Amino acid sequence: MPEKALRVRLLCATPDPARAVALGGRLCYSDTNIDQLYENMEGRSEAFVEKLMDLGHLSPIEHASFTFGVEGVSRALLAQITRHRIASFSVQSQRYVAKDELEYILPPSIKDLGPEAVERFQADMEASFAAYDRWRGLGIPAEDARFVLPNAAETRMLVTMNARELMHFFQLRCCMRAQWEIRRLAWCMLGICRREAPALFKKAGPGCQATVCTEGRMSCGEAARIRTLSDELSAFAAKNPSDEGILSWVLERL
Ligand SMILES: Cc1cc2nc3c(=O)[nH]c(=O)nc-3n(C[C@H](O)[C@H](O)[C@H](O)COP(=O)(O)OP(=O)(O)OC[C@H]3O[C@@H](n4cnc5c(N)ncnc54)[C@H](O)[C@@H]3O)c2cc1C
Repeated sequence: MPEKALRVRLLCATPDPARAVALGGRLCYSDTNIDQLYENMEGRSEAFVEKLMDLGHLSPIEHASFTFGVEGVSRALLAQITRHRIASFSVQSQRYVAKDELEYILPPSIKDLGPEAVERFQADMEASFAAYDRWRGLGIPAEDARFVLPNAAETRMLVTMNARELMHFFQLRCCMRAQWEIRRLAWCMLGICRREAPALFKKAGPGCQATVCTEGRMSCGEAARIRTLSDELSAFAAKNPSDEGILSWVLERL
């Protein structure tokens, strides 16, 4: 039974996201009509974006959106990411897509225990899928047989977020207090966003990056290391790496 690994791809995005945001900001603050909006904007988008971010005027950044393809993630991750209500999702159906074998995610904590633990986990996955298969064999539809499948079962999705929602998502899910799987995904998405729109996402990241940590006694105590990591990610993203390159960078560090 195949263990699956995280994959993240930027499938589409607002062309020139900084410009889309800047045009919104410009309309707000100058006596410009929609025909004049583009005039004298060459090379000025980033400055507009920075001004908006400094003012805390965040609604114009909703004009830029990003659609990611995500696979090799667990149903446990799905339960968490879909709590982000401003995002849009398309998730591979467990009702209509019946599986011939269970594809699953192996948590690193179990992998770290060594080969014996991994084998035990694989046996758990096999037992779970055998139960699914048995119910399917008895004519039970996939929508009901899936009730015996584990949280580790792999899922695939498209997720679209606008830049404002992405910033909120990064603030919560790049934090070291977030669960490892969604945290890795969030850092990877952050790297891709920084590559696509550096001015827009320069200050995006876990809460401790912009201000002090707000996690109180639950704090990881690593704010300085996380800020450094975030700066390193910016430097890496500026080299225009592929989506896979950003994912590898993240997985080596988180
Ligand atoms: C470390 C961590 C631990 C967590 N543990 C748990 C847990 O134990 N149990 C649990 O149930 N959840 C848990 N969550 C999930 C958490 O409670 C949120 O559901 C999730 O993070 C989505 O956040 P959000 O609602 O701010 O985001 P979004 O849904 O993306 O919303 C973005 C923002 O829009 C505004 N907004 C959206 N919808 C409304 C609305 N209806 N009314 C008013 N304002 C709105 C809010 O300002 C919100 O912050 C946890 C999250 C994290 C990061």
